[in-house]
Amino acid sequence: MEWAVWLHEQANRWTARGLDLLYPPRCPICRREPSAIGEGAVPEAGSSSWAATVCGMCARELSADSGRCLRCGEAGGAGGAADACRFCPQRPRDWRQIAVLSSYAGSLREAVLRAKRPAGDDVAAALASLIVRKHGDAIVSWGVGRIVPVPMHWLRRSIRGTSAADELSRRIAQLLGLPHSRTLVRHRATPMQNELPIADRPLNVQGAFRCRRRLDGERILLVDDVVTTGATLSACCRALLAVGAATVDVAVAARADRSSADDA
Ligand SMILES: [Zn+2]
Ligand SMILES: [Zn+2]
Repeated sequence: MEWAVWLHEQANRWTARGLDLLYPPRCPICRREPSAIGEGAVPEAGSSSWAATVCGMCARELSADSGRCLRCGEAGGAGGAADACRFCPQRPRDWRQIAVLSSYAGSLREAVLRAKRPAGDDVAAALASLIVRKHGDAIVSWGVGRIVPVPMHWLRRSIRGTSAADELSRRIAQLLGLPHSRTLVRHRATPMQNELPIADRPLNVQGAFRCRRRLDGERILLVDDVVTTGATLSACCRALLAVGAATVDVAVAARADRSSADDA
């Protein structure tokens, strides 16, 4: 039924052109109109012609973060890909490398909070584009072969109606041309990490995740929206390594300071 597929694609293309005229693309972060989308604009992940792009100003602001350690994710660590930074010894972790767009503050914090809502898929797509623009080469150099989101418990997801981690990872996979698998599951509805004291967070998520299948020898990129203590990411890493994953690297939109209340 190749002709049916062709017809469907043509219909989509014409619908997209129609939408382009009806709703000119706006930056999904600041909602400004096309005239504001100037130099440095970043096309949305997997975009068709009408899809919104991140404007140059937002792209610069959200990607300005620099000097962050690629191992522990600490700002100002600047350990580089191969070297441990001065914070690394105090930040135990189960992943190999971590790509962070920026710190969890200001307009990035607002964008992440919007990406968590059902109507925030375009914001998640925009953040995915920015992560790939900033760290795509590094992620490719890590030899990643599969992208896996940090899962939300099914009950919480059905209440929320969306998962920012899922949307982010799906778009990153699309942009990098890599398979995307919801192979991790959260089989225990744990209390939200940000509702617990930092010291209680590792125990809260310990053993909360399992993998649906073996991943022998696979190199995984684990994706989440925000990281604070890294307890959730570490628990997910252990579940992936337990089913044979060769390496687990991480990509997140934002890294919160220890004083911040939100953790994922
Ligand atoms: Zn903008
Ligand atoms: Zn470090």
